Amino acid sequence: MFTILEPGTSSDGSDSGADSDTPDSKLVTKFIPAYKDNYTKSRKAQGGTISEITIHHCASILTIEALGALWQREGRKGSSHYGVSETNIGQYVHERDVAWTNGNWEANCRAVTIETSNGGGAPEWPVSDTTFQTLVTLVADIARRNGLGKLVKGKNLTWHSMYAATACPGPYLSGKLQELVDKANTINGF
Ligand SMILES: [Zn+2]
Repeated sequence: MFTILEPGTSSDGSDSGADSDTPDSKLVTKFIPAYKDNYTKSRKAQGGTISEITIHHCASILTIEALGALWQREGRKGSSHYGVSETNIGQYVHERDVAWTNGNWEANCRAVTIETSNGGGAPEWPVSDTTFQTLVTLVADIARRNGLGKLVKGKNLTWHSMYAATACPGPYLSGKLQELVDKANTINGF
């Protein structure tokens, strides 16, 4: 889920012109740009570099469009780089920018974040096998393009409750993180 604490200072003022809506990943189904005040421009300007991928769940069954609509809402003060639902992948914030997902400013500055749609509700908050497989391919792609090397759970593959008082990513997905890491590493030849 998307608890936002300290977004930190905005780097705005240096508008570098129209932002491309070209997704960072070829796997992306649709780029739906988040509202400009729901994330921070330029990770680099914040002194951040990408060193991890953080996994979230939506605590809801959402399409990538429905998640995008949340991030487009003025005053939401939250966002994610990606959203995964069944075979679809939405991108909302460029990887070069800082999405407000982890409820921790330093972690936001390091992370590429993914919201995963659930397939059912509380208490387990399951995720469908199809959505999980889509998540695996996206994680592998992000890791490869950003040179993250072999993924290690708790190091460069992280999850929301490491950084904030939240149950996110929920019991089901929390129990699948090692499988996620193993499968993504296999795709990348580790
Ligand atoms: Zn979360």
